Amino acid sequence: EAKLAGRGRAVEFRPEMKHAFLYRRRLQEDLRGAIERGEMHLAFQPVVDLRTTRTRGFEALLRWRHPEFGAISPAEFIPLAEENAQILEIGRWVIAEAARAARPWPETVFVAVNVSTRQFADGGLVDHIRDVLAETGLAPNRFVVEITETVLIDNDEAALRTMGVLRALGCRVSLDDFGTGYSSLGYLSRFPFDKLKIDRSFLANGRIGENGLAIISTMCTLARRLRLDVVAEGIETEEQRLLVSRAGCGLGQGYLFGRPESAADALLRLQREEVDDRLALRAGGGTVR
Ligand code: C2E
Ligand code: MG
Ligand code: MG
Ligand code: MG
Repeated sequence: EAKLAGRGRAVEFRPEMKHAFLYRRRLQEDLRGAIERGEMHLAFQPVVDLRTTRTRGFEALLRWRHPEFGAISPAEFIPLAEENAQILEIGRWVIAEAARAARPWPETVFVAVNVSTRQFADGGLVDHIRDVLAETGLAPNRFVVEITETVLIDNDEAALRTMGVLRALGCRVSLDDFGTGYSSLGYLSRFPFDKLKIDRSFLANGRIGENGLAIISTMCTLARRLRLDVVAEGIETEEQRLLVSRAGCGLGQGYLFGRPESAADALLRLQREEVDDRLALRAGGGTVR
C-alpha cells in the first residue's frame, strides 16, 4: 500500500507533470486580482431562432487574458477558481457585468450566465442576482442561469431550493450540456428547468448521422412534452441548422450564427437586425421575425 503510494507519487515528479502542476498553481495565484487588473472580460455569443436566425439572447462567456500566457480558456481556469473560493468573487462579477451589458438590449432579448457548483451552493447567489437585477432594471425573466448536472449531484436538496427561489424571482434556469452526464433524464424529472441545451457533442464535427439525429429529435420531443425551451449547441454548418430545426429544435447557438463577441458587437448585431426588420416592413413583406 505504502509502496504503491510511493510509486504513485514518484510519477508526479516526471518533469512535464511537475511543470503542469507548477503552471496550474501559477495560474491559480494569478487569478487573484485578475478582475481588478482588467484582465477579465465577457464575450457574448448569440442564441438564435433556428428558423429565422434572429437573435433571441446571448450567452455570456468569461475570457481571461493573462499578461504573460495570453488567452486562457475558461475550461482551464474555472476549475482552478472552483478549488478555492475565488469562483465566488469571479462569479459575482460575471453576473453584474452580464446584466449591465444586457441593459440596452431590446426587452425580448435574454442574457444567460454559467454558474458553477460552488457558486450555486453559495447562500449569497440569489441575493446577489436580485440586487443586480434591481440595480440594472433588467427584467428577471430575461436573466437565465445555466447549470450543468454536476451542480446537482452532491447537494440536490439545496440545489432544488435554490432553483425554486430563482424561479420565484422570475429568473429562468437552464440545464447546460444536456445528455453528457450520468442521469440526465433523472435530473429533468426532478428539477424544474425552463430550458435545456443539447450538448454540442451530439452534433459531432459537422456531420450528424442517423443515430445522432434520432437522439436529437427525441430530446426535442422530450423538451416539448416537459414544456422546456430547447437550444442546440455547437451549430457550425447550414446543414446542421436545417437538420436540427427539422428535428424540432427551436433555438440554436454556434459559430454558424456568431462566435462569442464583445458587448459592443453584440449590441451592434441587435441594432443591425432591428434595421433589417424595419427595411423588410417598409418593403411591404412583413417582418421576418
Ligand atoms: P458552455 O457553457 O457549454 O459554453 C459553450 C462553449 O462552446 C463555449 O466555450 C463556446 O465558445 C463554445 N462554442 C460555441 N459555439 C461553438 C461551435 O459552434 N463550435 C465549437 N467547437 N464550440 C462552440 P468557452 O467559451 O471556451 O467556454 C467553455 C466552458 O467554460 C463553458 O461551456 C462553461 O461551462 C465554462 N464557462 C464559461 N464562462 C463561464 C463563467 O462565466 N462561469 C462559469 N462558471 N463557467 C464558465
Ligand atoms: Mg453554458
Ligand atoms: Mg453548454
Ligand atoms: Mg459545453
